Amino acid sequence: VLSVRSLRRNFEQGGVTIHVLRGIDLDIRKGEIVALLGPSGSGKSTLLQAVGLLEGGFEGSIRIGGEEAASLDNDGRTRLRRDALGFVYQFHHLLPDFTASENVVLPQLIHGAEPKAAAERAESLLSSLGLGQRLTHRPSQLSGGEQQRVAVARALANRPALVLADEPTGNLDEKTADVVFAEFLRLVRDEGSAALVATHNERIAAKMDRVLRLHEGVLE
Ligand code: ATP
Ligand code: MG
Repeated sequence: VLSVRSLRRNFEQGGVTIHVLRGIDLDIRKGEIVALLGPSGSGKSTLLQAVGLLEGGFEGSIRIGGEEAASLDNDGRTRLRRDALGFVYQFHHLLPDFTASENVVLPQLIHGAEPKAAAERAESLLSSLGLGQRLTHRPSQLSGGEQQRVAVARALANRPALVLADEPTGNLDEKTADVVFAEFLRLVRDEGSAALVATHNERIAAKMDRVLRLHEGVLE
């Protein structure tokens, strides 16, 4: 579902060019769950941002579901992102004025789903994460672990081929992180999605299908 070739990302800062990604090659097959480990500053978030098509300033090739992102304009990248990708961040970024269910329904409506079908899918995803009794709670009425579960359900709402997760449990205590991550893995597998997960946590990384190590912008 993902094929990255010779990916480079530079930042200009005060007349100096910083080479953050220095030629990344990476393949993820359908349903494969891959850990991205690396020290702070090694470029994990920058790599996820590039693959997530959140900005265009990269060199090289990013193919998602066979489609070359480098040759798309802004609208094309937005469409590909909506069709093929789901995101989970360290902080959940849920909409505070919407309920758990609405947070999972909304991306489906944007994607063109029927409201009834979207609500049913939200309920089914949230229930499978143990939040069947929390559907009408707002984020502020949920624990950190519950909020992150809602973010997981939202990421999977549109059946993405690939989920990109940046420190998805980095904001949780160790025990909650393990439980939420195990549920994330199970749900991603059940849904048949692939995932690329940046983490500092070796224990969590060991539970994935494969581990990649990033060091100063190069995969080892
Ligand atoms: P962490 O584990 O701390 O999250 P990371 O591996 O995710 O680290 P990145 O956030 O990808 O690291 O940052 C990699 C390098 O790129 C850092 O040196 C950072 O300062 C630099 N960088 C990232 N974004 C920008 C930007 N917009 N402008 C300039 N430099 C940037
Ligand atoms: Mg990061």
